[in-house]
Amino acid sequence: MEVAVQKNQFDRTLAVAGRKLRRSRPEILQLNTGKLCNLTCVHCHVNAGPKRKEILRGETVDKILSWFESSDIPTLDLTGGTPEMVPDFRRIVTTVRNFKRPGKVMDRLNATIINEPGFEWVPGFLAENKVEIVASMPCYSPENVNAQRGEGVFDSSIKAFQQLNELGYGRHPDLVLNFVYNPAGGFLPPDQKELEEDYKNEMKNHFGIEFNSLYCIANMPVSRFASYLKRRGELQKYMDLLRESFNPGTVSGLMCRNTINVSWEGEVFDCDFNQMLDMPLSGGSTQRLYVWDIDVEEFSNIPILTGDHCFGCTAGSGSSCGGALA
Ligand code: SF4
Ligand code: SF4
Repeated sequence: MEVAVQKNQFDRTLAVAGRKLRRSRPEILQLNTGKLCNLTCVHCHVNAGPKRKEILRGETVDKILSWFESSDIPTLDLTGGTPEMVPDFRRIVTTVRNFKRPGKVMDRLNATIINEPGFEWVPGFLAENKVEIVASMPCYSPENVNAQRGEGVFDSSIKAFQQLNELGYGRHPDLVLNFVYNPAGGFLPPDQKELEEDYKNEMKNHFGIEFNSLYCIANMPVSRFASYLKRRGELQKYMDLLRESFNPGTVSGLMCRNTINVSWEGEVFDCDFNQMLDMPLSGGSTQRLYVWDIDVEEFSNIPILTGDHCFGCTAGSGSSCGGALA
């Protein structure tokens, strides 16, 4: 496939640092189930919300699952929006868990959905299927969480995590519960290990909550967060901070190297951020690439499309769906 590769400041910075951004073997299929969500968080890079109509449909699910089963990619990472709000969510999870080959499922959970009417099934279902949970919890104090994610989100999340703990999440080795921290504004996350220790103490002492790991993730200067900074006149300052904090040691761990990101329509991207920026793998071509058309071997040779937003993944300790990189 012919792909137009743009030279941008990120590419030039990589070249000066003597680094190359190349794919390794895909280990994760990250499926963005769509933009439907019960919240409208300030930092959301998806622009998700309760009125969004873009969600994964049944026939697209069939094609994706059939292709995924025939691949040797071990992990399905479900993100959104709120994946549980998609009608096919349970079918996706149980199908993958029942593959003839082992299939691990991760769910990027917005814990408040557990307290919404009609979603009482979520905790039990996730536990029964040993789904690994990655849940947003940007602070252990209510003020910061509510300011970023909406009024009442802190209390609702606490209640949900207590329920998940009761089922064994964060306590039993098969039921992994990881938290995600992201900064409350245009600054970089602090040291992940130190913050994890603080979180563990605060969550245990104040709410009796236990969890496995804390992932520190940088806010990406795209979609809603970019508009938020722009309104406050802080976008340029944040971009400068990201550029100045470039850390070459993060490049080998970037998630675009081992992840295939797929939209609710089945289209393939390098990562969820490129998906939201509509940077398709086909570059300048009008031809779109769908996951069911991919040959995993050939995929490894397609260049990764970068832009200035990529500095958000390489600043400081780096940032990925699994937290810090260096
Ligand atoms: S950040 Fe997550 S929970 Fe918040 S609006 Fe976006 S998708 Fe929903
Ligand atoms: S934004 Fe996407 S393509 Fe750019 S470095 Fe991060 S993961 Fe890779």
